[in-house]
Amino acid sequence: MKFKLIYPKWRKLLRQTEFHLPPHGPVVFAATIPPEWDVEFTDENVETLELDDSPDFVGISMMLTSQVKRGWEIADHYRRRGIKVMFGGIATMLHAEETMAHADTVFLGEAEGRMEAVFEDFRHGRLKPKYDYMTDFPADDLIGTARRSILKRDLYNYKGVQMVDLVHASRGCRFNCYPCCVSFLGGRKFRPRPYDRVIEEMAAIDNNRLFIVDNSLAQNKAWEMGLFREMIPLKKKWCCHPIEDDDKVLDLAAQAGAWYVYQAIYDTSERIRNRIRRYKDHGIAVEGTILLGLDGQTENDILRLVDFLLEVELDLAEFTILTPFPHTRTFDDYQREGRIFSYDWNDYTADRVVFQPDKISPERLQELYHYAWDTFYEEEPQSYKMFKLLQKVAVREKADGTYRGRRRDLIEQRFGKQEETVGGPS
Ligand code: SF4
Repeated sequence: MKFKLIYPKWRKLLRQTEFHLPPHGPVVFAATIPPEWDVEFTDENVETLELDDSPDFVGISMMLTSQVKRGWEIADHYRRRGIKVMFGGIATMLHAEETMAHADTVFLGEAEGRMEAVFEDFRHGRLKPKYDYMTDFPADDLIGTARRSILKRDLYNYKGVQMVDLVHASRGCRFNCYPCCVSFLGGRKFRPRPYDRVIEEMAAIDNNRLFIVDNSLAQNKAWEMGLFREMIPLKKKWCCHPIEDDDKVLDLAAQAGAWYVYQAIYDTSERIRNRIRRYKDHGIAVEGTILLGLDGQTENDILRLVDFLLEVELDLAEFTILTPFPHTRTFDDYQREGRIFSYDWNDYTADRVVFQPDKISPERLQELYHYAWDTFYEEEPQSYKMFKLLQKVAVREKADGTYRGRRRDLIEQRFGKQEETVGGPS
């Protein structure tokens, strides 16, 4: 029996260099599929989706709101041909009711320990319209190694440089930041995986460079330090979301191979300046994630923020526009206040203004978004700054014997670019 797992295409951020990381949700989900099923995976962001085939069962994995309309379109195509379709993933949870209109079943929640029963229901023609495990999390030790064998690895290269592999060491987040939907998706409880399972998974990945995609590693200091200690012998180099702002933790992180962090930068305070400096003092580079359009933010605040990022010599910056994703407090507030003017999910790419900002017009915020990208990368384009970041990690890898050069046979390739013309299902 063949299960076709599809990761729908979405439009990437305007201005950003287009490269593609291997997706995480589909490989984590694929590990839970009963072994007697053949799994064929298509990532529509890097390859053409074959639509004339006849798999026994189709799964559509969606991470982003900007994937949902394309996911629905693909599902409608297969269902017209009598092939049953299941949806899962983060964006399915955020858009469950709408997605049910395009699905034979939607799976909500985390899949470990659940899929035997779902596939059994499929085989007996008794699929339920919805399997809802949103608040019923699997035991942490049930979470095994993701099934990365479904990936076509050559596609996740940029000009011969292998992209980082994604892995996670914990789920949930104890914080509840204003524009974030993680508390809805993964709960307010921090749920670390056992160290031995995480280390076993990292060691098995045929890639020295990883992206630890946990929501934030700064959740529990003792756990975080224990994780880094266990990671030191692996000699992997990795990026992640924030690390605890503590010298001992940062020192261990650097020893464990911390390469760069994604750090939210929301103001020009000394606190943020020092936070960046402390990462850099430990040899950890910083990619700022900068959200524009927060309530209270003025045009001058944005102009000053961009100058500040250059002053503190941030290694990379990713600017996005505040977007009220469903199931966030932002969405509830803005909807109640009548400030959302687009509910076209294809506009929810975080580079388009879909709401009425507090202190700036939507048009001006859109212009300031472009100003921020252009100004930050004026002297050194993004591709050059990324190259400098790669050089830093290459030096460390050469020193500890883990360096792998670029793939010469893929040096001309930028997978994803050639997929621009892929049309929707007929
Ligand atoms: S995932 Fe990040 S942004 Fe979201 S609540 Fe947790 S710390 Fe805040």
